[in-house]
Formats: sequence, structure tokens, C-alpha cells
Amino acid sequence: MGVLYFSPMLLGICLLLAIAVSATALRFMAPGEQGPGLWMAGSWSLIAGIGLFIGFIITHNPVLNVLGNAAQLAGEALFLLGIFRFMGRPLPWWTVPASAGCMALVNTHYWLFDGNSDFLMGVYSSIAGLLPAQAIWLLLRNRQDRQTRPAQWLVGVSLSIYSLVTLLRGYLGYHDWWHDQPYVQPYESFSYLLPYNFAIPALVMGFVGCTLMTTQRVLGRSRLLADQLQELATRDPLTGVLNRRAFHEQLVQEMARAKRHGTPLCLAMLDLDHFKQLNDRLGHLGGDQALLQFARQCQQQARSTDGFARFGGEEFVLLLPHTSLSEAQQVLQRLHQNVSRQPCAYLQQRYHLGYSTGLAELREDDSADSLLKHADQALYAAKAAGRNCLRIWRADL
Ligand code: GH3
Ligand code: MG
Ligand code: MG
Repeated sequence: MGVLYFSPMLLGICLLLAIAVSATALRFMAPGEQGPGLWMAGSWSLIAGIGLFIGFIITHNPVLNVLGNAAQLAGEALFLLGIFRFMGRPLPWWTVPASAGCMALVNTHYWLFDGNSDFLMGVYSSIAGLLPAQAIWLLLRNRQDRQTRPAQWLVGVSLSIYSLVTLLRGYLGYHDWWHDQPYVQPYESFSYLLPYNFAIPALVMGFVGCTLMTTQRVLGRSRLLADQLQELATRDPLTGVLNRRAFHEQLVQEMARAKRHGTPLCLAMLDLDHFKQLNDRLGHLGGDQALLQFARQCQQQARSTDGFARFGGEEFVLLLPHTSLSEAQQVLQRLHQNVSRQPCAYLQQRYHLGYSTGLAELREDDSADSLLKHADQALYAAKAAGRNCLRIWRADL
């Protein structure tokens, strides 16, 4: 019992068990993610190997020793394959049978010919220490996937520590075998305590890194999804400009700011003329093309602080903060010249887009609705005046 009180070995085994349980949790909490499945399989195989090894200590059945060592190395190899899968690289599956097979072969020889256990430990540690080399190389050299790179470094560095400690242990094994050192009980041997005191904690650190990499990836993807949803909720799918709802929000904000600071603000409503006829002539797709082209021209003309949106059908709105009525008129005239100058083309048919504009300036007592209504009334006046022109809202309209 006293041995168990201060047993790094017991602690090490419990840490490996903790990795296996956490890897299982990760596998089921992040379903469909690449990597956790192999981390889970690998860590449970390690635990199974240790279980068999404990069975060997109790029963002295050498078959359990052979199977235990092979299962542990296969587990480590599987765990490392998870890193390749996470990075989307081809998996070096051969490492699993190669490491486990090699170990089993040497181990069987030891069992049949009563070999030296220090030599066996040297072989085990050499394989275990060299196994992570490919994964470390991959992790530390990877330049893609910037989001998960810090976590990749954590895994790479942790695995390097694991490798170095394990190789040192291997060296000690060979050294003791070569110098024919007398056999030492595991709990009294420095070379046995190395893996439990240093290598397994490094493995834990590596697994924490694996969990971080996975979480970062999941977070990154959900952020992307949120951005796409935001885009869908605020943009008009045909033209890509703001939609009516998003525009309304901007209008309310800008109006509040303008009133607070006493700065001018203008709102223009633009409606394509005889668009129905254009649709009839070009077809619906041709009409869509015209809408897209018109939206592009307006967007190019607008300043970054302006708000431009598709208000519905073939009707657009342009919000001009910090802009007086005369400045707004100039902006709109310039836009009108540009649109009139550039002909549109669809299936070899060339045509010019005409549109009418209603303009209104913000007044002290305006709400968003009343300002929109004024711009709409001015637009109606422009249509009534023969279209393809600009009208400014006045109280007597
Ligand atoms: P006015 O000069 O008085 O504005 O006449 P108009 O024909 O432009 O206006 P009206 O409101 O009579 O017709 C608008 C047309 O715009 C009818 C509708 O089919 C078309 N339209 C609305 N949304 C779209 C769209 O997304 N794509 C296409 N191609 N046409 C659309
Ligand atoms: Mg129209
Ligand atoms: Mg209309």
C-alpha cells in the first residue's frame, strides 16, 4: 500500500485514463470533426495495453506482456494518426502495424529466449519516441489554418518533449543492457519513472492542445455561419446591397445622430422608369441584370458613409448623412449623368436605364416613416412630371 501513496506510475496511468475519457467526450461533443475519433481509439488502446501489462505483472503470463506492449504502441500510433486526419493529410496507416508488429516480434524473442528486459525497454522506447516525429514535423511546419496554429504549436512542442524523454529512456535501457546492470524494480528505476513523471504529462499537454485545435475549428466554423446568416439577414440576394430592414436600422441611427449634432441629412428614393416594359422586352433575367447594373452604379457613386439599399422591386433608397439639400442634389445629378451615359447590354440588346428620384431633407420633427414618406411623395411628383428626373419634397407637394 505504501508504494501506492507516492506512485508516479499510478498517477501516470490515471492521467492516461483521463485522456481516454476526455477524448471520448470530445469525439461525441464534436461529432463529425476530423481527428477526435482516432484520438479516442488511440488512447483507449493505450489503456488496454496498460491493462494487459498489469495482467502480465499479476499472472506472469508472457503473452500478456507481448500483447500489452503491442497495444500500447498501436494506441500511440493511432493517436498520432488523429493529428494527420485533423490536418486533412493522408494517414500513414503503416505506422500502426509497423510499430506494434516490430515490438511484438522483439518481445516474443525476449519471451522465448529469456532476453534482457533493459534491452526490451530500449526497443519499446525507441519506437515510442520516434513515432511522433512525422506528426511533429507536420504540426510545426504547417502554415495554413492560422486560427488553429497556436494550438498546433502546443501539440507539436508537447509531442517533442514526449519524444525526447522517451528516447532518453530508451538510451538508458540500452545503456543498462550494454553494461549488464543488475535488474532494478520499476518503481526504483529512474528510467521507469521518466515516462510517468515527464512523458505522460507532456502527452496530457499535447491532448489539451488537440482539444483546443478542435474547439478553435468548431468556433471558427460557427463564426463563419453567423457571418453568413448576418449577410443573409441584411443583404438583398440579387444585388448584394442592403435590404429594406437593414436600411431602416441605419436610417434610424443616422437620423438620431443628425438630430443630436444638428447636422443635415437627406434621403433619396430612386425608382426605375417603365421597368415593367423592360422586363417584358428582355425577360425576367434581363430585368434582373438591369437591377444589378443599376445597383452597382449607385453603390460606386455612394460614399462609404452613405447608405444604399434596395427598398423593394425596382425601387432603391440612398441615405446621405452630413449632406445638405443642395449637396445632395449635386450628388444625385452626377449619378444621373453617369447612369444615362453608360448603356446597358443584355443578349446583344443595348438600352439606357431611366429612373426617377424623389429627394427629402430631414426636418426637426421628422420620424423615419415621415422622412421616407416625403421622399416617396417627391418620387411620385417626379413620375408625374414625366419621369427620368429629380423632384424635391416641399410641404405643398
Ligand atoms: P414606373 O415608371 O411607373 O415606375 O413603372 P414601372 O413599370 O417601373 O413600375 P411598376 O411598379 O408598374 O412595375 C415594376 C415592375 O418591376 C413589376 C415587377 O415585375 C418588376 N420587378 C419587381 N422586382 C423584380 C425583380 O426582382 N426582378 C425583375 N426582373 N423584375 C422585378
Ligand atoms: Mg418603376
Ligand atoms: Mg416601383
